[in-house]
Amino acid sequence: MRLSRIAESIRPSSTLSISARAQALKSEGVDVINFAAGEPDFDTPDNIKQAAVEAIESNFTRYTRYEGISELRQAVADYLKVHNNVDYTAEGIVISNGSKQAVKNALAALIDPEDEVIIPAPYWNSYIDIVKMLYGVPVVINTRVQDSFKLTAAALEKAITPKTRVLILNTPNNPTGMVYSRQELEAICEVLKGKDIFVISDELYSTLIYSRKLKHTSIASLGEEIKEKTVVVGGLSKSYAMTGWRVGYTACGEELAKAIGAIQSHSTSNVNSIAQKAAFEALTGPQDAVEAMLHDFEHRRDYIAQRISDIPMISSLLPKGAFYLFVDVSKLLGKEVIGNMMNTSEDIAKILMDRYRVAVVPSDVFGISGFIRISFAASMRDIVEGVNRIESFVKDNY
Ligand code: GLU
Repeated sequence: MRLSRIAESIRPSSTLSISARAQALKSEGVDVINFAAGEPDFDTPDNIKQAAVEAIESNFTRYTRYEGISELRQAVADYLKVHNNVDYTAEGIVISNGSKQAVKNALAALIDPEDEVIIPAPYWNSYIDIVKMLYGVPVVINTRVQDSFKLTAAALEKAITPKTRVLILNTPNNPTGMVYSRQELEAICEVLKGKDIFVISDELYSTLIYSRKLKHTSIASLGEEIKEKTVVVGGLSKSYAMTGWRVGYTACGEELAKAIGAIQSHSTSNVNSIAQKAAFEALTGPQDAVEAMLHDFEHRRDYIAQRISDIPMISSLLPKGAFYLFVDVSKLLGKEVIGNMMNTSEDIAKILMDRYRVAVVPSDVFGISGFIRISFAASMRDIVEGVNRIESFVKDNY
């Protein structure tokens, strides 16, 4: 069969497929600990579910405007005013099917074939494939562990060419858990000043920050010029435990938002009407469930970070946000373990899955070798058991 060039070059999302494999094994009765899923284990809070039930019962079941219902667009604008200190009009907000579609919409509105998109690595795996699906050229900048895996102004400056059209920033970062400070973002802004380069700022994890001293800063809050050139991407999946509802958004100037809306009108039209009502309740209703989840995530982070740092030969920076621990396993490479050569982090992830029944994501899919990503958005029971198994893997074989 002849497939398109794109279909030939795209592989399914590894984060989704590794997690799906773990779930499939679980449903067959295999005792797998799933550290692969970037998904809160909490249930969607009751008030949000209730709003969806009410939407169904009142027959709110037809098409909505393709950019989203007005009250939800306004609620997102209000939310961003409070959390990011940036003013958007409701017309600048487009509600999308998860933040993944938001990223794709924004890129589709901004890049032409052959345009370059700068992506700092480690990156969330889907960015690369989305850029390729739009015939853009991903330009990867490798960040350094000594810079806490953050893009520096100097590295950005070097990567810019006349073809650069977009920079993708992600703070808090998936997979590293690192968070950009205001000063770091200011330095990046300085490089972009006067240039015709847009920023897609993926801030999906902005409510999940654990350090008292660090606050989430949106690059769009650093002045009018950068605000005009930034598309903020956000969503409700992670902070409100709503991954399956598929509600994300873009926030930007009205002209660009119009283009983003038009693009979405030809792909998925509006986000599910019921999910939109639920999202409105999430943003405008009581926020105590969000606080409680954040508190639990912090407790889990502290526990897992300590346990991992106690295991010889592996290490991790302490994540400041999101819910991932990015663990350096490079010292485990180059050795044969249970008849298998450990050459890459994929080999480590495979043996952890096959022999120790722990699902993790190998870092090659995030554009760097020698690490594994562990999601701590899992129950405390699973975290304790999963880390015990990783510890056994290292202690049994090294
Ligand atoms: N964003 C989550 C992750 O990185 C969910 C899966 C996905 O969409 O990639 O695991």
